[in-house]
Amino acid sequence: MISVFGSANMDLVAYAATAPRRGETVTGTAFATVPGGKGANQATAAAKAGASVAFLGAVGDDAFGPVMRGALESAGVDVSRLRVVPGSSGIAHIVVDGEGGNSIIVIPGANGAVKGPTPDDAAVIARSDALLLQLELPMPAVVAAARAAGDVPVVLTPAPVQDLPAELLEVVDVIVPNEHEAAAITGQADPAQALDALLELVPEAVVTLGSQGALYGSRGGERLHVPAVPVRAVDTTAAGDTFVGALCVARAEGRTWEAALRFAATAAALSVQREGATTSMPTRAEIDAAMA
Ligand code: ADP
Repeated sequence: MISVFGSANMDLVAYAATAPRRGETVTGTAFATVPGGKGANQATAAAKAGASVAFLGAVGDDAFGPVMRGALESAGVDVSRLRVVPGSSGIAHIVVDGEGGNSIIVIPGANGAVKGPTPDDAAVIARSDALLLQLELPMPAVVAAARAAGDVPVVLTPAPVQDLPAELLEVVDVIVPNEHEAAAITGQADPAQALDALLELVPEAVVTLGSQGALYGSRGGERLHVPAVPVRAVDTTAAGDTFVGALCVARAEGRTWEAALRFAATAAALSVQREGATTSMPTRAEIDAAMA
């Protein structure tokens, strides 16, 4: 069983030829509500990739809470510990203009109210095969969850990128940034050098390189480069979350790093060929078929 302690957001996406300037009202062309948030995305990816997954986090008591709960549930995620807190759910308010540019306001809402794992959450974390963390919850909450993991492997996606306190780094087992996050954390633009620098912080690291695949390294141990699966990408939203979710499923099943990275690259390549975030994530049957 995999635990994901993280964010759930509702993306409210308005499309218009041009984004409104201050004081201006424009007529848009379309609107979509899309459940997202890095925590919920990783939980969805892992459940669709075949694991039993518990999502630990919070939604608000607004109309979006039940929608997000339902989306996780229909992907097979255990939401029995998803809390409802007073006020707004986490919201990403997105304007997409005719050239595909966007501007986004993220309101943490219920995510910002998460102070740490409840005793119940901590018990679930302690009996998991892995704990997946991202940085869309308040840092003290993330640190508290990581510290509840004990011997359970802690896998951190350091996004959105920010300073990583020592009390977090000392209990993270694997860090999985994309190349931009890796550069921001280490100050090394070259991904191989960034990987080396990350291994001074934590025992194992994976740097994802978009269409160039991913680099893996362990402290004092092996380095691997697993190429991406060559495909025609139509929407790379949540490629990283799909990759991390699938990677942890394969590791929890006892696969080697190389096999797990190939499984993750296959899952992510399937997702980038379809529109959408969670809707584009492949099922286990699809991943197995693509690998055969
Ligand atoms: P993020 O979405 O976090 O920015 P990346 O862009 O590095 O992360 O993508 C994560 C993984 O998704 C990559 O390591 C790769 O396996 C896969 N991926 C991303 N973009 C493509 C692409 N254009 N073609 C095939 N695979 C891709």
